[in-house]
Order: sequence, then C-alpha cells, then structure tokens
Amino acid sequence: MMTLTRQEIEVLLDSPKQRHYVVSAYADMTVQDGFSRHVETHLRNQARAAEVALGKAEARKSLEANIEVIRKAIAAADHSAKGLAVFSSVDQGLRHVVPLGFPVENRLIIDEESFVLPLLECWYAEPNYLIALVDSDQAHLFEAHHGLPEPVRDLHREDAHEQIQRDKPRFTYKKRFSKTDHEHLHGTEQDKFLHAVADAIIEHARGGPFTGLILLGHSSITQPLRRLLPRELEASVTGEAAHAMTTRPEDLADDVSRLIENDRGAREARGLAELKDRWKQKHLVANGTTDVLDALQQGRATQILLGRRRDLSGAICRDCQYRLGAATGVCPYCQGMCRPINAAQEILRMAMRHRVPVRIFKGNGTKVDPFTAVGGVSAFLRAEANWTPASHGAA
Ligand SMILES: [Zn+2]
Repeated sequence: MMTLTRQEIEVLLDSPKQRHYVVSAYADMTVQDGFSRHVETHLRNQARAAEVALGKAEARKSLEANIEVIRKAIAAADHSAKGLAVFSSVDQGLRHVVPLGFPVENRLIIDEESFVLPLLECWYAEPNYLIALVDSDQAHLFEAHHGLPEPVRDLHREDAHEQIQRDKPRFTYKKRFSKTDHEHLHGTEQDKFLHAVADAIIEHARGGPFTGLILLGHSSITQPLRRLLPRELEASVTGEAAHAMTTRPEDLADDVSRLIENDRGAREARGLAELKDRWKQKHLVANGTTDVLDALQQGRATQILLGRRRDLSGAICRDCQYRLGAATGVCPYCQGMCRPINAAQEILRMAMRHRVPVRIFKGNGTKVDPFTAVGGVSAFLRAEANWTPASHGAA
C-alpha cells in the first residue's frame, strides 16, 4: 500500500512540548543501482552540514542515533516504494516511516518539528478519486491516488449464466426481453446487479473523502447507474468515459489521468475565478502569511488557497504558541521568544488539523503565479478580521 493516509500525516502534526530535534529524511528510492549507498552518502553529507550548523554537543550525539534509525528504515524499505519519508527523534521517542508512491528528492531536515510539507502538499495537491468500471455483468472499483488506479473491489452478476437456463422451461418473449437481455439492460434501474454496484460505490465512497467519482463504461450502463446514486454522490461524478472491461489498472491509467487532469484544471479555473472576484471586491479574503495564519488561528478561514511558493517565512512564539507570518524574534502579543518556521507548512498543518479545505494551485501552462502579488497564499473567510464571537449582539 503506497497510499498516503490522513492518519500517517496527523501523527506528525503535533508540536512537541519539549525542545528536541527531529530528523526528517526524504529518500529517493527510484535509483535502480546501489540506491542505498547513494541515499546513505547523500544523507551523511547533509548530516555533516547540519552538525556544523547546529554546533550543539547533545544534538550531535542524538543526530548519529537518528541517522542510524533512518539508515535502517531505508535498508528495510519495500522495494516497490518510489520514495520514503522517515521521521526520527530518539530523544522524543519518535520513529515514523512513510513509504511513498511518488518519487521525492533526497533531503535531510533537522528542526524542532517534523518536516511534513512534502506529505501535506501531496495530500492536498493529489486528490483521491473513486473509479467504477462497469458493464452489464461485472464491475470493478478502483481508487486513484496520484493518478495511479488501484483495484479495491470486484463485483460479478451472480445470475449472469444461471438465469438463462433457469428461465428456459417457462420461456416467454417478454421475460427474455426484460430479464436476460443484459446487453441492452432495458429497465436497468430495476436491475439487481446495477443496484449492487451502486451500493458498493456508496459504501466505498463513505471511506473517502474522494475529490470525485469517475464512471467508466458504456453510457447505457453508466447513465442508469448515476441515477441510482444519492444526489451528492451523483454530483461528485467528475468524469465519464466509454471503456472496455478490464481488471488491469494499467489499462485504465491513460483515461483516468486524462479525466483527473481535466477535472483538476476545471476546478483550478473555477477556484481562481472566485478568488479574483473576492480580491477585486476585497470581500472575505485574507492575503499573505500573516493574515492567513490569523484567520486560521481565529477560526475564520473556510478555505486555503496556496500558490507555487513554499519558502514562506514565519515564526511561532515559544510561550503563547501564536503563529506569525514573518520571521520575528519576539512575540508582539506576549514578548515571548519566537522560533522560525516555514509558514507554508504551518498553514497546511493548521488547515489539516482544523479540517479547513486546501487548494494548491499548480497553474500548469501558465508562467505567472497569480499568488505572487498577495504574498503566496490566500484564504476565504467566514468573517472579517475584526469579527469576534462576542461582538454579536453587542452595542
Ligand atoms: Zn507570544
């Protein structure tokens, strides 16, 4: 299973109370020849640079132990993994290994918290799709994460062959037409098999959330199937295409990635149009790291919209834990000491914790990042900055 789960990320989101270092390692596992040596050399070089930068005896001591944990995790990794993320803090008792279905650059980051930005980016940038490939006698459900469909469930019409025989002795034209002519599926909405497929989709969709549902097959089957789905699920159908029956995910890959890319492009265009509208009207929109972090911390953000930049600087107060959208040494609220943080990571972390939806703009085919002018990030709001719950009804 190369599927990134919410649980896998959430376990890394809590900031530790004590000041211990966490070593976060991202390893490229796609190198075919002697990959482990490559990764090890790479990690050692970076670890050496980090030791020099840290210059703390105790940090250096635990660093060696953490690197050992990472080396072992890489050596033991499943060879089908394209990338591996390892988070280790011997002092804190943290050891978390995440196999990744997508390639990553070799990186080693030493900080007071786990570097989870690539995982969060992947979680939000590569949505999950549920795919149903269906014909009159069988259906196969797949999930696509990062565009690669994985089979998750198979259904077969139980009576596909039996029914014809059973019906033979008391054959009537009408019966044959309505019951065994599966090729055309007249009266499909009463069809037991199609109901079973719809139920399987409904059940599986509950395990989501999925960005959208993709239906593959002949429209004479997919159309009545759509009508059997509850309204919100039906509305989540983001792509449909005729497709021959297959159980091999690789046969679906081209069609699925095309449909997903079309859907992503359409979503992005819609999101950007709404954002530009709000920018123009200055209506319930926060721009830049400071305002977006304020909105998240005050529970006013309803959606986060992140551009292409990831090196957004910020700080967190060691005393009151307030997140600031600029690299500051002293907290303006409590005069406590701050430590620097990556604001892009912090915004995505908070959004995940508070279940605020995130949209990451890729802007394929455009050179200009529309977010450059607003500091890299925006948020849709349910209330303006001067809003407080207590102010309602006050004079
Ligand atoms: Zn403070």
